[in-house]
Amino acid sequence: MLTTAVEAVAEACGVARLVQHDLERVGRLTKDDRSPVTVADFAVQAIIAIALRRGFGEVHLVGEESAASLRDPANAALLEEVVTAVRRYEPDIDAGDVMAAIDAGDHDGRADGFWTLDPVDGTKGFLRGQQYAIALARIEGGEVQLGVMGCPNLAAGSTGDPAIADAIGTVFAATRGGGAWAVDPVDPTRRSVIHATTTRDGATVRLCESVESSHTRHDHAARILEHLGYERTSVQLDSQAKYAVVARGQSDLYLRMPTSATYVEKIWDHAAGALIATEAGAIVTDITGRDLEFSHGRRLEKNRGVVCAAPDVHARVIEAIGALGLSSR
Ligand code: AMP
Ligand code: MG
Repeated sequence: MLTTAVEAVAEACGVARLVQHDLERVGRLTKDDRSPVTVADFAVQAIIAIALRRGFGEVHLVGEESAASLRDPANAALLEEVVTAVRRYEPDIDAGDVMAAIDAGDHDGRADGFWTLDPVDGTKGFLRGQQYAIALARIEGGEVQLGVMGCPNLAAGSTGDPAIADAIGTVFAATRGGGAWAVDPVDPTRRSVIHATTTRDGATVRLCESVESSHTRHDHAARILEHLGYERTSVQLDSQAKYAVVARGQSDLYLRMPTSATYVEKIWDHAAGALIATEAGAIVTDITGRDLEFSHGRRLEKNRGVVCAAPDVHARVIEAIGALGLSSR
């Protein structure tokens, strides 16, 4: 199962990269929630759905995208771009089969076992030429069993600045109870174990958080670290690449402080990344210290925000959030 998922994500990374290099030419839509959707989102969802069906037969898939807008004749040019991109993976496919593959991701997440996919997580990073991720996870009985995350612009190794776009990228993978790895996207048989161990001196925390101020309260993160008396360095990254950066010991803390009382996180934005970080030794909860619960359909209905960190930092951050009253709605 792991090999099939890793290979599918690595293939999809290649297609996403090609679309990214071609952004000026390819179309772009605006979804109802006003986030930009590109050819890559649709093409990647189709490619992964096809790969899962080929590997495992009919599967339940909770994907972020639907082909509804591609069926609108006004978007015929966009559909053509999507079909062209998918054909790099599946040369003979036609438009109807591409749309059917995309729509295979419409499951409600209520089955005992299902897959969840964010075909391009961090679409804004994708559009800016910065970080984005292709995130695929298998959930069984409410537990994430397998997580694979392709980060086409994240450099291998944990020493550089993760915000700088790399030309090769990294794939991350984890199985529940089996550990977490960085995988070479060019040769997925090459992988190395990753750990969330840190070289912290105890006084400094290396924070990572969203670029978008509508996705996290940067000011709340600053107050928390100030309350704890930590010096901080911080890096802002789009997508679940933040989980990976903590998982490989490059940051100590990924904080996602809610910006609204009503926003509910989506499972595809967290399942793969959370397992990769957990299996690397980090602790992942919401801002109240509650485990992320993947057993309530397409959204994390019982959770608010995210705290992902090395264990000692995690405990102190949860305490600080409580002390500052930042976990109430
Ligand atoms: P990031 O790249 O970490 O900033 O997160 C990108 C994800 O944020 C997208 O996939 C959206 O699903 C999600 N998102 C959209 N609106 C919000 C919001 N108000 N609060 C938190 N996350 C959001
Ligand atoms: Mg997303």
